[in-house]
Amino acid sequence: MRFLEEARALLGAAHVLTPDAEDLSAYTEDWRRRYQGRPLAVLRPADTAQVSAVVALCAQHGVAIVPQGGNSGMCAGATPDGSGKQVVLLLSRLNRVRAVDALNNTMTVEAGCVLAKVQELAAEHERFFPLSIGSEGSCQIGGNIATNAGGIQVLRYGNMRDQVLGLEVVLPDGQVLNLLKGLRKDNTGYDLKHLFIGAEGTLGIITAAVLKLYPAPRARTLALVAVESPQRALELLAVLRSHLADRVTAFEIMGDAVVAMVQKHIPGTPALFDKRPPWYVLAQVSDSSGAEALQTAFEEALGQALESGVAQDVIITSSVAQANELWAMRDNASAAQQRDGHNIKHDMAVPVSSVPAFIDEVLPQLEIAYPGVRPVVFGHLGDGNLHFNVARPADWVGDWLDQSDAVNAIVLDAVARYNGSFSAEHGLGMLKKHELPLYKTPLELDLMRRIKAALDPQGLMNPGKVLPD
Ligand SMILES: Cc1cc2nc3c(=O)[nH]c(=O)nc-3n(C[C@H](O)[C@H](O)[C@H](O)COP(=O)(O)OP(=O)(O)OC[C@H]3O[C@@H](n4cnc5c(N)ncnc54)[C@H](O)[C@@H]3O)c2cc1C
Repeated sequence: MRFLEEARALLGAAHVLTPDAEDLSAYTEDWRRRYQGRPLAVLRPADTAQVSAVVALCAQHGVAIVPQGGNSGMCAGATPDGSGKQVVLLLSRLNRVRAVDALNNTMTVEAGCVLAKVQELAAEHERFFPLSIGSEGSCQIGGNIATNAGGIQVLRYGNMRDQVLGLEVVLPDGQVLNLLKGLRKDNTGYDLKHLFIGAEGTLGIITAAVLKLYPAPRARTLALVAVESPQRALELLAVLRSHLADRVTAFEIMGDAVVAMVQKHIPGTPALFDKRPPWYVLAQVSDSSGAEALQTAFEEALGQALESGVAQDVIITSSVAQANELWAMRDNASAAQQRDGHNIKHDMAVPVSSVPAFIDEVLPQLEIAYPGVRPVVFGHLGDGNLHFNVARPADWVGDWLDQSDAVNAIVLDAVARYNGSFSAEHGLGMLKKHELPLYKTPLELDLMRRIKAALDPQGLMNPGKVLPD
C-alpha cells in the first residue's frame, strides 16, 4: 500500500509496525482490557520533524491517527477502532530532555518522557515536579497533558494544566505550532495551549512541553487516620489546614471496602488499625524548611482532631518505608479492582463541601436498586474528586457491565444535581463520550464541535474519542 511505503520512507521500515508482521497487542488494547482494536499500522516517529512529516502524510491520504503515550489511560482514548484503517502514533521515542532552567524553575521535555523520569530529573536539580499518579512508571508527559492528569497532589499544586507553561503541538495538517515559552505571565490574546491540554489527542499531537518546577520539599510526613464518615474526613481537612495551611499536600479518602480489596489481592499489604474503621484518610504534609517544626504542627493538629472526636485513630508514619507502604496501598487500589473483576467506574467531582451529602444520598439508592452491591469509593477528597466505583453484588449472575447505563444514571444524575463533573480526571475517550450530551448543555457541545471542526476539518485526529458521533 502506497501510504505504508511512504511512511517507511519517512520513519524507516523498523518503525512502521503492521499487524500481519508483528504482535501489536500492547498498543491495540486499553489498560482496562475493555477495548481491542486493529490498526493499519503502529508508527514510531523519533522527533518532532518526523511527527510533522508523518501527520502531513496521513492528512494527504486521509488516514486517521490515534496518538498513544504510555497506554495507561482509563477510558480507551489511545485504542484504535477495529477498522484496520487507523494508525497508532507512538510518542515514546520522543523522550529527550531539551532544557532544564533551574533559575526559571522550568524544564522543557519531549512528550514521550516517562513521568517518573521527569520527577527524578527535577530532584537531581533540587527541584520538584508535583504530578504524582499511580501509573507514573509508565505514563508519559504527552499523555499526562492530553488527559490533564490529576493525582494526589492537586490539592496543593493543581492539575497537569497548571504545570504547563508552554507547548509544542503538531497540528492535524502537519504544521508545528511552537508555543514553547517558559512564561508565567502572557496576556497576548487567546491562550492556545489550553485547547490541547485535556483534548485527548483530538486536536493535535503534543510533542514537547515547558513544565513548571517547584522548590524541593525537604520534609514530608504521612498519617493514616481512621474516621467514621466522609463528613468527619472533611472536618479533619479543615483542622489540618487551620494548623498547616498549604503544607497539606495530599488528602485521600478510602472506604474500608477498598482497603479490604487491596489486602485481599495485593500480597504484602499491611494490616492497619485493630478495629476496622468505615473510612480511612491518608493525609500528607510537606515543607521546604525544617522537619521538626512540620512534625510538631502535624502532631498538634492530629491530636486536636483525636480529642474533638473528628478522628477515631491515627498512625503517623515514622519512616519513608512505612509511608511508601501506605501509599502503595492507595496506588494499588486500581490494580486490586482489576483483579477483583469488572466494576462500573466513575471518576466524578462535586464541590468539596458537597462530598459527604453526595455519598450519603447515592449509596442508599444503589443498595435499593442492587441489594448487596459493593461500592468501592476512594480518591482525592481534598479536590472533591472520587473514584466512585460500583462492584457487583457477590451473588450477581451475568455480566455486571450490562448494568452500566442504569448504575450511571443513579450516580451521574446525582453528580449533575450537585453541579459536578462526570469525569474529573480520566477524561472521556471511547468509554465516556456518550455521557457528554447528557450532562453538557447543547451550547457547550456546539462550541466543542466548532473548535474540533476548525482545527481538524478532516476529522483525522483520534476520531471516535471525546465527542460522540
Ligand atoms: C494504576 C493507574 C493509576 C492511575 N492514576 C491516575 C490518577 O491518579 N490521576 C489521573 O489523572 N490519571 C490516572 N491514571 C490514568 C492515566 O495514567 C493518565 O490518564 C495518564 O495521564 C495517561 O498517560 P499515558 O501516557 O499513559 O497516555 P495514553 O493512555 O497513551 O493516552 C491517553 C490519551 O491521551 C492521548 N495522547 C497520548 N499522548 C499524546 C500526545 N503526545 N499528544 C496528543 N494526545 C496524546 C491519547 O490519544 C489518549 O486519548 C491512572 C492509570 C493507572 C493505570
